[in-house]
Amino acid sequence: MNFVIPCAHCGCLFAPDPRVKNQRYCGEKDCQRARKRKWQKEKLGNDPDYKANQRACQTDWHRRHPGYYRKYRRERPLTIGA
Ligand SMILES: [Zn+2]
Repeated sequence: MNFVIPCAHCGCLFAPDPRVKNQRYCGEKDCQRARKRKWQKEKLGNDPDYKANQRACQTDWHRRHPGYYRKYRRERPLTIGA
């Protein structure tokens, strides 16, 4: 049950947390940093849309709701002078 595996970064043997799937790095700061760097690199490498998605996320809503603010104002006209 308490098996140990070598850390993918520093090579030291450590007992992976059974709750963490595919844990390959020990808890050292350097190793955690390396893990994060690798993940980000792989993510950006495997998924060219990832970067674009993050950027597009902001404007996407407005693209899907064209004229929202105009419609909002038309349905709720200002009543000044009425
Ligand atoms: Zn390590």
